[in-house]
Amino acid sequence: SIVVTGATGHLGRHVIEQLLEKVPADQVTAVVRTPEKAADLAERGVKIAVADYSAPETFDGLFAAGDKVLLISGSEVGNDRVGQHQVVIDAAKAAGVALLAYTSAPGSLTAALADDHRGTEKVLLESGLPHTLLRNGWYHENYTENLALVLQYNAVTHAAGEGRLSSAARADYAAAAVAVLTGEGHENQTYELGGDVAWSFAEYAAELSRQTGREIANNAVSVEAFTGILTGAGMPEPFAAILAGVDASIEKGELVVDSGDLSRLAGRPTTPLAEAISAALKG
Ligand code: NDP
Repeated sequence: SIVVTGATGHLGRHVIEQLLEKVPADQVTAVVRTPEKAADLAERGVKIAVADYSAPETFDGLFAAGDKVLLISGSEVGNDRVGQHQVVIDAAKAAGVALLAYTSAPGSLTAALADDHRGTEKVLLESGLPHTLLRNGWYHENYTENLALVLQYNAVTHAAGEGRLSSAARADYAAAAVAVLTGEGHENQTYELGGDVAWSFAEYAAELSRQTGREIANNAVSVEAFTGILTGAGMPEPFAAILAGVDASIEKGELVVDSGDLSRLAGRPTTPLAEAISAALKG
């Protein structure tokens, strides 16, 4: 079987959708913690397994020898994600799966957000499992799903200076994961995944201006000011600090990925940012 954790999340849904274009539904298992959210998948013949990264016993017997597993990193930042991911890795090891692919972060990223990914990579390497590191760069959607405030203030506010980043659509990263899960020769490979084109926030603001017909400013502020703006908007301080830390990394170029791995694995160019903006504005 091909087993996908986090299957009811945004990325997981893209992965399942693209898998179903390539393999019969009964060869796909979606690991979810809330089965009601996966009712549509069950209806289409996808096998559903219910498990929670925080409850090791729920993974007992979930995997079978020879499975190819995609471990989609959890979203509970601050809740021992390394320990959570280790639960999945231990269960996969006990079952003798053929491959465990993990959605990590770019090797160049030093921001605090990368710590859980580095920690999980270490656990995975030490497990001795055949593995693939899918070091996903940033999603276009991190920005295009948050246009309300930009359009309210007619400004893109960030702390990344003139830094550039090569983001791509979730669907692009899903395509790379599906290529690894359905293809051959990906054992013990590390892929640095990012969009084909790196962009700056000035360019992002200019593209938004072009598509909306409004004057959208590029509002570059300091990391401290940005943290204050985020907490002022109601974001808890630790989370604001993490996001501001990511912008500091972007300024240093740590989210530029120029390996070409993503379009190579997907077999096509990555989704242009302008296309993601246009889809979001229509949405
Ligand atoms: P989502 O938040 O949409 O999905 C996270 C998935 O993880 C969900 O399916 C969620 O289950 C599942 N999950 C979280 N905690 C647990 C748990 N304790 N046990 C079992 N399942 C759990 O994020 P995306 O799909 O957009 O992104 C996937 C991952 O990539 C994120 O979780 C995060 O680690 C990382 N990420 C990467 C970004 C990037 O730009 N590269 C940006 C943001 C996140 P449920 O559906 O039940 O909630």
